[in-house]
Amino acid sequence: MAKKKQSGTCELCGREEVEVTIHHLTPKEMGGTFMSTANLCIPCHKQIHALFTNEELATSLNTVDQLRSHPELQKFLKWIKKQPSTRLPIISKSNARKRNKR
Ligand SMILES: [Zn+2]
Ligand SMILES: [Zn+2]
Repeated sequence: MAKKKQSGTCELCGREEVEVTIHHLTPKEMGGTFMSTANLCIPCHKQIHALFTNEELATSLNTVDQLRSHPELQKFLKWIKKQPSTRLPIISKSNARKRNKR
């Protein structure tokens, strides 16, 4: 499988057509290599790791729901939802058409 940039819907902020990355709900360092993952946009993903330690993530924030209901993240989510999902650089029209919309 080619490792390409993935575009999809962020499971946390719900923005669509954003570049998503795989977040291990239980950090790999905490044994979560084969456990569930979530697709998160880059800002959400960064925010999570900025706010929480791997231990916190593994023990009390290992589902998307738990993350979403955390007060600190809620503040962030409120803000990020207002941001345009176009983190993508300006795409020429011909290129944009190639993207498979689901
Ligand atoms: Zn997000
Ligand atoms: Zn992560």
